[in-house]
Amino acid sequence: MALKYSNKINKIRSVALGLIFAGMIIMYIGLFFRETEWLMLIFMFLGIVAIGLSTVIYFWIGMLSTKAVPVECPECGKQTKMLGRVDACMFCKQPLTLDRDLEGKEFDEKYNSKKYTNEEQKES
Ligand SMILES: [Zn+2]
Repeated sequence: MALKYSNKINKIRSVALGLIFAGMIIMYIGLFFRETEWLMLIFMFLGIVAIGLSTVIYFWIGMLSTKAVPVECPECGKQTKMLGRVDACMFCKQPLTLDRDLEGKEFDEKYNSKKYTNEEQKES
């Protein structure tokens, strides 16, 4: 199954990595404004904020990983971690679910949202 979906932990991790690069690029741009000190300082500051933010996100991933459920992927047999009711395998992107009710149903990210879960509970 080819799905445009990736594992949540992997997704957050790539965002954090992107922020580090963004921070470095912003600081690098700041070096072009060496003559204008205040402008350079603003760029430096923004760069530090971006890198600081990515550190926070990495910390957050660490917290999430402890809550993630380790499962063995039925497709590739590797150990993967999943968050929420539905998630994708980290290695082969096979959609996985922890909820037996959702087994066999079409993969949809909406199963993770609180709103959807509440509506489902109202129905039953
Ligand atoms: Zn897999």
